[in-house]
Amino acid sequence: MDTYIMALDAGTTSNRCILFDHEGNICSMAQKEFTQYFPKPGWVEQDADEIWSTLLGVAVEAMSKIGATAQNIAAIGITNQRETVIVWDRVTGNPICKAIVWQCRRTAGYCDELAVMQTPAYMRAVSQDTGNAASNRPYQPSETGSTAGAGNDLPENADASRIPWQTPSATRLVDVIRDKTGLVLDAYFSATKIRWILENVEGAREKAAAGDLLFGTVETWLIWKLTKGRVYVTDYSNASRTMLFNIHTLQWDDDILRLLDIPKCMLPRVVDSSGIYGMTDSSFLGGEIPIAGAAGDQQAALFGQACFGRGEVKNTYGTGGFLLMNTGDTPVKSVSGLVTTIAWSIQGRVTYALEGSIFVSGAAIQWLRDEMRLIDSAPDTEWIAERVPDSNGCYVVPAFTGLGAPYWDPYARGCIVGLTRGVNKYHIVRATLESLAYQTNDVLRAMEKDAGIRLTGLKVDGGASANNFLMQYQADVIGQTVCRPRCIETTAMGAAYLAGLAVGYWGGTEEIRANAKIERVFAPQMPPEEIARRLKGWDKAVRYSFGWAKEE
Ligand code: ADP
Repeated sequence: MDTYIMALDAGTTSNRCILFDHEGNICSMAQKEFTQYFPKPGWVEQDADEIWSTLLGVAVEAMSKIGATAQNIAAIGITNQRETVIVWDRVTGNPICKAIVWQCRRTAGYCDELAVMQTPAYMRAVSQDTGNAASNRPYQPSETGSTAGAGNDLPENADASRIPWQTPSATRLVDVIRDKTGLVLDAYFSATKIRWILENVEGAREKAAAGDLLFGTVETWLIWKLTKGRVYVTDYSNASRTMLFNIHTLQWDDDILRLLDIPKCMLPRVVDSSGIYGMTDSSFLGGEIPIAGAAGDQQAALFGQACFGRGEVKNTYGTGGFLLMNTGDTPVKSVSGLVTTIAWSIQGRVTYALEGSIFVSGAAIQWLRDEMRLIDSAPDTEWIAERVPDSNGCYVVPAFTGLGAPYWDPYARGCIVGLTRGVNKYHIVRATLESLAYQTNDVLRAMEKDAGIRLTGLKVDGGASANNFLMQYQADVIGQTVCRPRCIETTAMGAAYLAGLAVGYWGGTEEIRANAKIERVFAPQMPPEEIARRLKGWDKAVRYSFGWAKEE
């Protein structure tokens, strides 16, 4: 009997289901978009029930396309848009409001208030919360023969007694939050969104205090739905994006919960990213299937790219760019504007990562197409860029929404510099593509500096990684090889691998590595002196974008 691993990829704009076989081949796929709500400028919401119904729909569709039944599915792995907040009623199972999506800026003002606050006295002392993680559990799965191993005990590398990086005499709240969570205080993460719901949805605070509300990121919600409310868990990678989770003690942080007035009883139990959490209710997919893996999308992609070793890095060239470096079993504090996050936890061992986000990556190519109308389609950029030997001294800095890592300048705006009479549209298209490579290089250099690890190669995925010109230029700029895998569905693959490992479908990471087939390797070709000259130009160009939108 053929068996598959089902990956459920709950993305920001669509849900997908992919069935993988033992060699990591895609055997079936189904996808469906769902509604985005923009009730006010800067606000982004989704309907949690619609997320669930479309996800279930694509799961059924992917199975029926190849005539698979529940008996053909060895396990389910889930990967999800991160940080998005869903709060629902424990008894009725109904969400109490729309899901607040990671992009939503409604709590930016509150974050600004927090940013100027001094650290409250109760937070000054290093968290001594040495209680067992089990005490975090408000709700135990019942009837599920098996639950994730590490959920019952702290992972081996939990450091429950101290925060190794604590900023000496951290009087600024932002520093303490960063020390504890690894994150930059920002509306992007879940914490302030949960607080917003408690403050603004009628009756929410009372219900939460009575233990009647549950919070979850998208994977928590989906696991709860798939098990008909029997399993209430999140994995370490998703927990680390909430800004409520202490990445050293590996527990929900009591100080931050107190600061934001969020009751601990509304938080899920934190479990391994690979482990059997429970079985799907047989009413959904025609039988019980073990749910055996979960990870946030970027971490799942890191796993799907088989970046299992310390120092291995992947970059996703999607709408934005996401670079993650595996830093092994110790968290690395960034001094260069990156965030520290949990990559995954397997068999009670947590692996950490450094993450850098580039706000505009492939979106710059959309801009060339939709606003500038210089191209008809994104793939056209490849032959257009190759029509000219270089960008003729022109640089495009696509800082349309400010600059992310490593600059973090919300007031930066895009610019085109170095224009002369000879610069034509081919040069501008080429300079835009080149900017994706330069931005990636900036984050990689920051990662190397923070981690003290010299990069040995870059694994790539995402829509724009299909562009051969860009990949070659990327290899030239970083002076290292760029590897493009045959299967660029790395996010779903990562979720499948995490689940497959838990049920023994794959024997170990070596077996997974053997599956990781490379489609093409790009080796650096340009002389280093030439690259140094171009990078100098880029550095100068980026500076012109700084602070542009700041009021004088
Ligand atoms: P997301 O998951 O963020 O929606 P995708 O991974 O699907 O993004 O990638 C889509 C992005 O990649 C778009 O911004 C598009 O402009 C860009 N893109 C797609 N194909 C190419 C190409 N051949 N060359 C350059 N950019 C491309």
